[in-house]
Amino acid sequence: MPLSPDQIAEIEAARSTPRPTLRAVSEGMEAHLYRAQEVLDHGFIRVIDYMGDDAAIVQAARVSYGAGTKHVSNDEGLIRYLMRHWHSTPFEMCEIKLHVKLPVFVARQWIRHRTANVNEYSARYSILDREFYIPAPEQLAAQSTVNNQGRGAVLQGAEAARVLEVLKRDAGQAFDSYEQMLSQEGQQGLARELARMNLPMNTYTQWYWKTDLHNLFHFLRLRADAHAQYEIRVYAEAIAACVKDWVPLAFAAFEDYRMGGVTLSAKAIAVLKRRLAGEVVTQEDSGMSKGEWREFEGIWG
Ligand SMILES: Cc1cc2nc3c(=O)[nH]c(=O)nc-3n(C[C@H](O)[C@H](O)[C@H](O)COP(=O)(O)OP(=O)(O)OC[C@H]3O[C@@H](n4cnc5c(N)ncnc54)[C@H](O)[C@@H]3O)c2cc1C
Repeated sequence: MPLSPDQIAEIEAARSTPRPTLRAVSEGMEAHLYRAQEVLDHGFIRVIDYMGDDAAIVQAARVSYGAGTKHVSNDEGLIRYLMRHWHSTPFEMCEIKLHVKLPVFVARQWIRHRTANVNEYSARYSILDREFYIPAPEQLAAQSTVNNQGRGAVLQGAEAARVLEVLKRDAGQAFDSYEQMLSQEGQQGLARELARMNLPMNTYTQWYWKTDLHNLFHFLRLRADAHAQYEIRVYAEAIAACVKDWVPLAFAAFEDYRMGGVTLSAKAIAVLKRRLAGEVVTQEDSGMSKGEWREFEGIWG
């Protein structure tokens, strides 16, 4: 369980005192506010705050005085148009602030998304918890033989048991050493900012992460994708579920054009036209590289 009873009580207290507001409210997002959604073995995401809703996107696009149009169908059409034509700034009018608890190696991938505001738990100031990410057995996979940046079949039998044992033992030993170095019993005690450097990358950290909807969609496009590492993908999927409830029209357009859509190169369009005209096109006369052709056939057959 990633949250202590005290932390759960704090969340419930925050949820028990609603206040009236003149600001835009998304009923779907209100249901998520403050609540932690568990991710991996000790992690979570929770929405701390948000600004705007679907109507705010429409309102900004039209630079209008009210809350957008009166017709959902008009709003939906406009949002889809904006998404289709990469008119992205109206989506930047919506913001989200998340509290995330995640392993350090996931945080390293996540932090590459520079268009966000981040404040991380300070391990110079505070002592870290004894919590490590240990993959579930079905995630303990061998190196992929076709993709250097991926995993293949799940490890089996004695090897799987041995790997799990190594992961748990090494993390436990490292944390024992961390505590011994910090201890001030009979010794000076090493500074927290130094003692932490011996901890493994599966140690959990936490941060507040704030971004706008446009950049969040970019993050989700990359990290909720099947090519993203499982351990960050599950966080992206948890966030996506909240976004779907927050801005259902914008999320539907995002799913359609970004997650479900593909970008066609000029060469790919030319090949499709030739195929539609009945021509048999091969990689050699397509003008595409082998890699491009493989990806093209993966979608179009
Ligand atoms: C499957 C996958 C594999 C990856 N593998 C690697 C890897 O092997 N090694 C590695 O180092 N990284 C890797 N990355 C990270 C990747 O290269 C990006 O750094 C990361 O996805 C963040 O994307 P971004 O820069 O578009 O996002 P953000 O930093 O959020 O930026 C969003 C957009 O803002 C603009 N922008 C932001 N900052 C600048 C800037 N300084 N100058 C110009 N434009 C800017 C760009 O248009 C950018 O697309 C991988 C990512 C994925 C999804």
